[in-house]
Amino acid sequence: MTDFTATRALFHLPEGVIYLDGNSLGPMPKAAAGRVASCVTDEWGDMLIRGWNGAGWMDQPSRLGDRIARLIGAEAGSVVLGDTLSIKVYQALASALELVPDRRVILSDTGNFPSDLYMAEGLCRTMGNGTRLVTVAPEQVADAIDNSVAVLMITQVDYRTGRMHDMADLTARAHMAGARVVWDLAHSAGAHPVDLAGCEADFAVGCTYKYLNSGPGGPAFIYVAPRHQETTRPALSGWLGHAAPFAFEPQYRPGAGIERMRVGTPPVLQLAALEASLDIWDTVDMAALRARSVALCEAFIAGVEAACPDLTLASPRAADHRGSQVSWSHPEGYAIMQALIARGVIGDFRAPDILRFGLTPLYTNDADVAGAVAALSDIMASRAWDRPAFRARAQVT
Ligand SMILES: *Cc1c(COP(=O)(O)O)cnc(C)c1O
Repeated sequence: MTDFTATRALFHLPEGVIYLDGNSLGPMPKAAAGRVASCVTDEWGDMLIRGWNGAGWMDQPSRLGDRIARLIGAEAGSVVLGDTLSIKVYQALASALELVPDRRVILSDTGNFPSDLYMAEGLCRTMGNGTRLVTVAPEQVADAIDNSVAVLMITQVDYRTGRMHDMADLTARAHMAGARVVWDLAHSAGAHPVDLAGCEADFAVGCTYKYLNSGPGGPAFIYVAPRHQETTRPALSGWLGHAAPFAFEPQYRPGAGIERMRVGTPPVLQLAALEASLDIWDTVDMAALRARSVALCEAFIAGVEAACPDLTLASPRAADHRGSQVSWSHPEGYAIMQALIARGVIGDFRAPDILRFGLTPLYTNDADVAGAVAALSDIMASRAWDRPAFRARAQVT
């Protein structure tokens, strides 16, 4: 059983702040500051270029990938880190499409994060062979899988509402129809248990700066099922995905297994920060995490519903259909969130009207939930949000 009081103590949580936005940017593990500082001064500073071998910088993307693998039910040797999630979506999608060369449809849903859809659009244009993106409402995905679909590209947990797709069911349906599946785990990895191997997923991608706490700009990860690794041809065929990067051959040859999904130089400093976070994650039991996440979400829903009748629950009520976030809708959602943030309760806002709160057992406790409910209920009852200052929109919401 994981001791979540102990894990909370390992994070830097500023005084006077209740942080419910770890689904967007995880807080800093206290050890990250020292780990990054030592990577800067001892490794970069003193080892200079010798750090690639001497400090293990070059192996870091697959070594840390293996530690993430446990959290998402992936086989050893099937996850590698690098680039941003948008890039990894493109890579996974391009490789998945190549496995089904006679079909032209990428199926996704309208609740997907826009960047995933934009990357798919761009890839379709580059392919120029009639490959097209089709989106349907999230509830319609299962029925829309037919023999025209080459790749089903789905984000498991909806970034706005927290609604969770059934990975095992959709993957099985896609396979039955002869399609391949790319799962985006942006709001799944570190949020709840995922069983990629058990679901026989083909490809998956996700980011580390949300629930996995690698810090702003932390790299993404990509998963390729072992059965596809030797037939997967990387569309972004960079030198570090080459079989022998330092042979500097004129032609590309894919590297062994998951290594071929690397592109260029790894973000060494960010990986050092991620390493500090994974030291915590290594101790976490995912079933215990899920139980605690459900308890926190249920307490938050009950508290807000009792105190704030004007807010409408935008997340599924049934825990089985929800990730580790709770969202509410209100036409003045933006101003309400700004008023909350002004009181030190940090969630975020997603257009057009969603107030979003991530509840993350590693560092969110019952007192945080109670404090957030109290602040929200006071702001709603007093209309404290109804001020021009709270309506002024910043660049990042
Ligand atoms: C957060 C998120 C992204 C962000 O992609 P980056 O390239 O890392 O900026 C992409 N897709 C989904 C589903 C996300 O939730």
